[in-house]
Amino acid sequence: MQTVRKPLVAGNWKLNGDLTLVNQMRETLSSADVSFVDVLVCPPLTLLHGFESNELRLGGQNLSEFDSGAHTGEIAGKMLIEAGCSHVIVGHSERRADNYESNIIVASKVEAALRNGLTPVLCVGEPEEIREKNEFLPYIAEQLDAVVDKIGVQAFSDLVLAYEPVWAIGTGKTASPAQAQEVHKFIRAHLAKSAQDVAEKILILYGGSVKPGNAAELFSQPDVDGGLIGGASLSPQDFLSICQAAKQ
Ligand code: PEP
Repeated sequence: MQTVRKPLVAGNWKLNGDLTLVNQMRETLSSADVSFVDVLVCPPLTLLHGFESNELRLGGQNLSEFDSGAHTGEIAGKMLIEAGCSHVIVGHSERRADNYESNIIVASKVEAALRNGLTPVLCVGEPEEIREKNEFLPYIAEQLDAVVDKIGVQAFSDLVLAYEPVWAIGTGKTASPAQAQEVHKFIRAHLAKSAQDVAEKILILYGGSVKPGNAAELFSQPDVDGGLIGGASLSPQDFLSICQAAKQ
């Protein structure tokens, strides 16, 4: 029997947004039936309080690998839970690049998220030069294996994965549906080598210049279970259209 995976569409607001956008987003999303998709919004932390609990899933964009202590400017997993989050993005390529987050640090953050009851949305994906050298599949395998080594493959049943080719993030250059499917299928097969059940159930989102015009075709690929949306998640109407494109 084929496993049915309920799609998830997540909006990563990055360093954008204000309470006006929070209210517009709430109004737009509540005006339509999106019950066929799980919708997750990851705004800056200071805007989390603007969302009512239970109306949407809320996520952080990052967390500390530590639970407390002398780590100025950091946020702990349990603090995200208290602020109403169920999810947290971990290993986004912007954090890997801007904050020097290595595969090892990313693995520790995934562990910290799980330890605190959050669902990590673990981002993997290759930069342009790795794609050009046709080395993207081993590169992604290495990113995944760093986390498998830390938490074990069975723990991936409590994770969401996002394939985000770095060359497609915020560039307007989307991976073609076939390119996305190739990597998503590879990720699922890679996990299946050690845990078939986990591989079948895990959600693998695509991220990288998803827009209302290309979302449906990307989401219709057999191993694409929704999207992680950056720029287009800042427009309530575009974000709603992308959520609607996840209807199977
Ligand atoms: C992202 O930052 O996760 C992302 C996918 O951005 P964009 O949709 O703007 O490419």
